[in-house]
Amino acid sequence: MSSYAVIGGGVSGLAAARTLALSRAGDVTVFEASGRFGGKVLTAALDSLPIDLGPDQFLRRDPSAEQWCRDLGLGDFLVAPEASTAGVFSHGRARQLPRRLALGIPTDLAEVAASGIVSEEGCRLAGQAGLGLAPLTPAELGLETDGPAVERSAGAILRERLGDEVVDRLVDPLLGGINGGGVDSLSLAVAAPQIARGLAGRRDVVEALSGVVSPGDGPSASPFFGLAGGLGQLTGSAVRELSSAGVVLRASAPVDSMDAVVGPSGSRIRLVLERGEPFMADGVVVATPGPATAALLSRLSPEAATLCRGVPYSSVVLTTLVLPPGALDVPPSWSGVLVPRVEGFVTTAVSFLTRKWGWLSRHAFGGRPVDVLRVSAGRFSDDRALQMADGELIDHLLSDLATIVGLRTRPLTSHVQRWEGAFPQYLPGHAARVAHLLADLEGRPSVALAGALLGGIGVPACISSGAEAARRLLERVPSGRG
Ligand SMILES: Cc1cc2nc3c(=O)[nH]c(=O)nc-3n(C[C@H](O)[C@H](O)[C@H](O)COP(=O)(O)OP(=O)(O)OC[C@H]3O[C@@H](n4cnc5c(N)ncnc54)[C@H](O)[C@@H]3O)c2cc1C
Repeated sequence: MSSYAVIGGGVSGLAAARTLALSRAGDVTVFEASGRFGGKVLTAALDSLPIDLGPDQFLRRDPSAEQWCRDLGLGDFLVAPEASTAGVFSHGRARQLPRRLALGIPTDLAEVAASGIVSEEGCRLAGQAGLGLAPLTPAELGLETDGPAVERSAGAILRERLGDEVVDRLVDPLLGGINGGGVDSLSLAVAAPQIARGLAGRRDVVEALSGVVSPGDGPSASPFFGLAGGLGQLTGSAVRELSSAGVVLRASAPVDSMDAVVGPSGSRIRLVLERGEPFMADGVVVATPGPATAALLSRLSPEAATLCRGVPYSSVVLTTLVLPPGALDVPPSWSGVLVPRVEGFVTTAVSFLTRKWGWLSRHAFGGRPVDVLRVSAGRFSDDRALQMADGELIDHLLSDLATIVGLRTRPLTSHVQRWEGAFPQYLPGHAARVAHLLADLEGRPSVALAGALLGGIGVPACISSGAEAARRLLERVPSGRG
């Protein structure tokens, strides 16, 4: 039997462990540095309310998360968000988002003009900005990773074809917000590959994407699913499934270093845990964020380590506010409000959790119904929220929210969750960097990488990357090596 190790017990690592366990090719051990599994997937009880303190939904387009939930017997808990529209705070008040957007990129400028989010002048510029420009090339969109690095950021491409106002007030809050960053330092090919492909060879962005978007109609058309009771059920059930399949799950077990050891049965990988405990493995999946992955690879391949270290991360702070009902001055159909960077607030987005998730609204708090708000703060190159102590941050957010959503009440209770180094930033050139990294590791067949570091921030992409890393490892380190 071979011995496989997975380093990192977030969704990527758990998915890798599952693929390894299902193959029955050998023993599987997962090492997780913290005291719990799930990584950024975290549901915690705030009084009696189960609150997602990390992701609260996942995209269905990549079916891996939905399928895993169904396989784990959680199919009945899959729910689409109930509120299907959202607002953007722009030009003095929160305004409803147009329906025909592709990650914030307009496909109908008349609808954008009617929303009031972008001024008339901004819409006029958007209609004319791209006139006379050459069609977009796959290389500048980042779709080619082998040529010279000519990729331009999503912001650079879209600003010249839509103007600054559309980018600042629509594209950046949506596309940039999902990635905890900003469009001016984001690779379109990695952050939104379907959009990059849709734009290749096209001159007019609005026209090129108009076929990509449908306006959607209520929860049945939602591209997202959450889990009634919180997404933590996915990782909780996954851990139980892995454990009953014989996988050894070691929490509070950070791996300090790895190196290759050549013995009579070939090359193996020696992991060294805290306090010097060694662990020998025939194959290893590393599913940790960039800085940890860089440290773990440093002895095996200094070049691969340098490539991982070069991926910057942004930090975010999620504050949950439990409020008496009726304290918000926004339409009941909205699930939240996005806040463009150019508005200058510390708040980057507000999500109305009890409107979005019917199952949560049916939970009482201290015997009474409540509204639950989730306020996001912090993004790439904006660490103001991170620098504030909890009390100061909450006061600051409440002052923001008075303007953004008309909130005038103090919360019944609150919770601050800090996620330092939360979101890898997919800078232009990221796909080429990852291709280089994976090519470098071809020479180390017993190590595979997984996780958000590689590209694809969402839970389904991480699950797919974990499963894929395990499959690659199984091809190279089949059963019976040990
Ligand atoms: C606030 C927030 C909101 C989000 N919202 C959404 C959303 O709504 N939908 C969505 O799809 N995605 C969302 N995401 C993104 C998504 O949650 C993450 O990209 C994904 O969960 C990352 O999974 P991962 O397993 O790759 O990494 P992680 O979850 O970071 O797991 C890595 C694990 O490795 C462990 N580790 C690190 N170093 C070591 C070591 N040396 N030894 C052992 N273990 C180690 C860490 O402790 C951690 O548990 C959100 C992320 C955040 C932070």
